[in-house]
Amino acid sequence: MLVAGLLQRSGVEVALLERRPALSPGSRAIGIHAPALAALEPSGITDELLAHALRVSRGEARSEGRLLGTVRFDRLSVRFPFVATLPQSVTERVLAGSAPPIRRAAEVTAVRPEGRRMRVWIKGGDQLVARVVLVAAGVSARRLVYRRIRVREYPDRYLMADLPAPGGPVAVVNLDRVGVLESFPLPDGFRRFVAWDDAAGDAAPEARANRMRDALERRGQHDAAGSLISASAFRVRRAVAPALVHGALVALGDTAHEVSPIGGQGMNLGLLDAATLAPLVADWVHTGVRPDAELRRWERDRLASARTAALLASLNTGLGRPLGPAGDAARRALLRVGLGTPAEAVFARAYAMGFDRDA
Ligand SMILES: Cc1cc2nc3c(=O)[nH]c(=O)nc-3n(C[C@H](O)[C@H](O)[C@H](O)COP(=O)(O)OP(=O)(O)OC[C@H]3O[C@@H](n4cnc5c(N)ncnc54)[C@H](O)[C@@H]3O)c2cc1C
Repeated sequence: MLVAGLLQRSGVEVALLERRPALSPGSRAIGIHAPALAALEPSGITDELLAHALRVSRGEARSEGRLLGTVRFDRLSVRFPFVATLPQSVTERVLAGSAPPIRRAAEVTAVRPEGRRMRVWIKGGDQLVARVVLVAAGVSARRLVYRRIRVREYPDRYLMADLPAPGGPVAVVNLDRVGVLESFPLPDGFRRFVAWDDAAGDAAPEARANRMRDALERRGQHDAAGSLISASAFRVRRAVAPALVHGALVALGDTAHEVSPIGGQGMNLGLLDAATLAPLVADWVHTGVRPDAELRRWERDRLASARTAALLASLNTGLGRPLGPAGDAARRALLRVGLGTPAEAVFARAYAMGFDRDA
């Protein structure tokens, strides 16, 4: 939606195809970081997102209720020194507001070059011809672009729920012996809770809800535990494609790279892919000449940023695993030292995507 909207603003005719018949009510991505907010500012989208968002100024690492250290986003020297949180459905609504009309229930089944154009096949038999095709269609659409990408499956499983809970605009990461419980503030008095879950646990919805309730009660989140009805489950994977540009076919977002959501950078990577690609594609369409050097630079920077995000997400995922007494003591010592010294600023920068090439 973002890249389609930016292209349309630049006078490019765009067809935006979406497999789903309607906006999905479910929520995955909630955190938007400083580089994405800065990249969307010229289009006015940042102001609209911020009108609905909560500004998270700091994060705390805790263990068994005790504070290990604090990460200060409000001390970063960036234009937006906070993490903006809002439900994914609201982000999608804002992006849809500046995108061309979405042609829904239009599942692309194949994209092939045909002379100097690309032909796009849509389920049901319809076809389109375009000069450039951008595939920003998540993991399941990878087959439209790539024969095969190496995907690493993590052993970890998580439970997730958005619940009413007190706590103010501070993110809390509880790193206990039983594994991580993350608690991120959302607008309107809600918080997003994500708990490490035992892969061998019963997958029945009620059993999952009970385990989530236990994880919340253990950290003193009694209100949230009391209001919990169900918890969704997710697993995590890591994949970074070797290339993004294939002639007139370009992949971006999760189609090209998938990082563990522990750390919350996947959507931000996609937004930055889109914001930085749009001017190059507009130039390409207007002049009829593919800006090869700029596209190569774009591809190199976006892949490097995805690899950095994937590495950080991997470290976060590892840090949140259950540990025995010795490992847990070492983790606490590491975090106390890391967050109590000038290295804290590096943590804050890493969490806020300050190492992205387009930050
Ligand atoms: C639990 C969880 C929490 C997360 N939290 C965060 C967070 O806080 N911050 C963050 O940055 N990231 C987060 N992420 C990651 C984030 O959700 C993804 O990186 C992001 O949604 C990827 O966006 P995308 O547009 O590339 O793909 P998607 O969000 O998967 O969207 C792809 C769209 O393309 C459509 N589509 C698919 N195939 C076709 C086809 N063949 N034809 C037409 N349309 C098609 C789909 O229906 C979908 O609407 C989280 C992920 C999870 C699982």
